Amino acid sequence: MVRRSPSLRFFGGFLAFPGGKTSPVDADISVQSVRPVAASLKLVPPLSTRIVAAARELFEETGVLLARDSENSFPTSTSQLTSWRRELTTQKLTFRQLLLNHGLSIHEADFVRLGDVITPPFAPVRYDTSFFLAHLPPGQEADIWPGELDQGFWSTPKEVLNRWKRGECLVSPPSVVILQALEDQVAEGLDFEGAARGIEDSAATTRLAPLFQFHSSGEIPPIFFAPEVRLIPLRTLALPPTSYTNAYLVGREKSYLIDPGCGEPDERARLFRFLDQFVKEGARLEAIVLTHQHIDHVGAAAVCAERYHLPILAHPLTARALENKIVVTGTIQDGDRLDLGTPPNGHNGPGGINGEPGGVSPRSWYLQAIHTPGHASGHLAFFEPHYQLLFAGDMVSTISSVVIAPPDGDLTIYLESLRRLAALNCRLLLPGHGSVSSSPRQTIELCIRHRVEREEQLLAALASGPRGLEDLLVEVYKGVPEPLMKFARLQLQAGLEKLQREGRVVMNGNGWELLGLAQ
Ligand SMILES: [Zn+2]
Repeated sequence: MVRRSPSLRFFGGFLAFPGGKTSPVDADISVQSVRPVAASLKLVPPLSTRIVAAARELFEETGVLLARDSENSFPTSTSQLTSWRRELTTQKLTFRQLLLNHGLSIHEADFVRLGDVITPPFAPVRYDTSFFLAHLPPGQEADIWPGELDQGFWSTPKEVLNRWKRGECLVSPPSVVILQALEDQVAEGLDFEGAARGIEDSAATTRLAPLFQFHSSGEIPPIFFAPEVRLIPLRTLALPPTSYTNAYLVGREKSYLIDPGCGEPDERARLFRFLDQFVKEGARLEAIVLTHQHIDHVGAAAVCAERYHLPILAHPLTARALENKIVVTGTIQDGDRLDLGTPPNGHNGPGGINGEPGGVSPRSWYLQAIHTPGHASGHLAFFEPHYQLLFAGDMVSTISSVVIAPPDGDLTIYLESLRRLAALNCRLLLPGHGSVSSSPRQTIELCIRHRVEREEQLLAALASGPRGLEDLLVEVYKGVPEPLMKFARLQLQAGLEKLQREGRVVMNGNGWELLGLAQ
């Protein structure tokens, strides 16, 4: 396992397997193959390019070089490998030159392809990733040079998952499901020998095949950002640039479904299949929880409530906003707790599971409601103190800025609510739209800064004289695509109302005018 540097935007601070993106030049390196690639395998980029990328990234990240010389042997000299690696990472040599210079070649048989995963649509950038199994060549050692990665270690799936359950580390969602699939396999004493020799029906590949097939089936994949915390990206009527809303399913013994927002029958059917399976496996659904009333967060609430006989919980102001649309059967106030039952690492008290040192030491496991008006007057965020998770609803989006639409939206109150969330001690921020953030405070502060900058732009525009709303819109939001202009207009209105309340602008016959100009 390697740990991605906390400063990285994508999965910063998460444990993952070594690897990275294909580079255009990877296609120029040929791969020695003992058999033709199956015609049915139509990968883009092709398997050979993916193998080269895997070999190159593995060498750059860990110093392990899966390339053979003319005598079919792997290089073993540590000093040689170190100097080659330095030449490669400082771009003195390309990977192709390096292999040519030393008479090395890459062999397909050294890489057992386990399967492919495409990032589900919660992320703005999606990756199609192949996973491979390989043997550490005799005499070589893996070590991490600080940079994009800041840790690396050998471990068993069980050890990593136990650390994860104790809250001692973050693990990237695809790694979680692979580790889970292999967890008991290692315990059963099955090894990877067959797989590493290229025998595709080996224990490891057999165990992982259903997982990868599931990923390509179009069904909702298991995406765990923390133990028993599933992200479910659902196609909804969300505002551009996205058309997805993240629902979250938290807990197992007692679980809550937050913001099931899909409205179309086929997307609801997908969600039902996912939840049917969840319940079939012995999990218990307690309630549907709504962060606020917007359609892309509540679209499937009523149908889920009916199908699984669940109450719908929300803030009283959300319940009022949904009157005659959705029956909210229970209300949640600021500070209320939703009990999640036994935490994934048990109730073992200080020291975590089996008294081992470090990590969280829960007495109970719950979600705590935080009333965060601003985007919507009854908006609730949820804090989970066990793994320090913040379910942010529409308070923060990691792909766009949040719309503040008066009168239910209020910019002043929104900023106050954001500051309240920024003060929490969180490890992950799980938003309604976009990817999960592993630097919650910076993410929230970025939202606040964005609003402050917009306000400065507005004040600068007003400084040259009174203006009507439409003129200001053109000036402050120039370059915004036409379909989004109506949202920009709402933002502008919210900004002006805030300044008006603060006594900094006034609306009169000339339009909006800055106060206190003549000093
Ligand atoms: Zn919303």
